[in-house]
Amino acid sequence: MIYGVYKDITRHRLASYSIESTRYCNYSKDKFNNKISFIKPVFYDSSWQSNEYYGVKLTEKQLKSKQWYNCMLQIQNTYNNMSELNCPPDELRMILPHSTAAEVTMTSNIREWKHILSLRCSKMTHPSVQQIMIPILKHFQFTMPEIFNNVDYNKDFPKDKYAKFKLENNSEVF
Ligand SMILES: Cc1cc2nc3c(=O)[nH]c(=O)nc-3n(C[C@H](O)[C@H](O)[C@H](O)COP(=O)(O)OP(=O)(O)OC[C@H]3O[C@@H](n4cnc5c(N)ncnc54)[C@H](O)[C@@H]3O)c2cc1C
Repeated sequence: MIYGVYKDITRHRLASYSIESTRYCNYSKDKFNNKISFIKPVFYDSSWQSNEYYGVKLTEKQLKSKQWYNCMLQIQNTYNNMSELNCPPDELRMILPHSTAAEVTMTSNIREWKHILSLRCSKMTHPSVQQIMIPILKHFQFTMPEIFNNVDYNKDFPKDKYAKFKLENNSEVF
């Protein structure tokens, strides 16, 4: 998930979390293919690249997507340059943005999941959180309808932006 999302979800104290450390990962090393993984934000529209290539005027949405893309590129370059200057991960992490991909494990009991999902699937929640929480809720509604069917969610959230996740048996849910 997007690194910035963990700040939102870890506010729910009756759950347990493990989050990939940015203090011990040097993304400029071979283990990470020498690059930082970024997750595209919900607003991102990748069509700006082809429009720019063909000289088509970019829309406002495409212009902001281009800004985000160029910013991530710049961060990655700076990160690699600082790494070459022997900066340790503790220093390198200071320039990592919210969009950095990070592995998060979260466990909780059913009652707390219901509470968290009822708060975090609403329109008021940050889109990057909805992106993860709505598909989780929908999966729970499918597998445990008697418990989760009365939890509401933002039905206007674009389905093509739902996060994809796999179950333990490797079957893909969305
Ligand atoms: C849309 C949205 C916007 C938000 N915006 C902001 C914001 O702008 N700024 C901000 O700071 N936060 C924000 N939050 C976070 C919010 O303030 C809460 O911190 C968050 O929702 C967790 O609340 P919770 O009741 O689920 O969890 P918890 O605080 O973990 O509480 C869960 C339940 O357990 C009980 N509990 C928890 N710990 C203990 C304990 N040690 N002893 C006894 N009882 C305990 C609580 O009383 C509660 O009943 C936002 C949340 C949402 C959903």
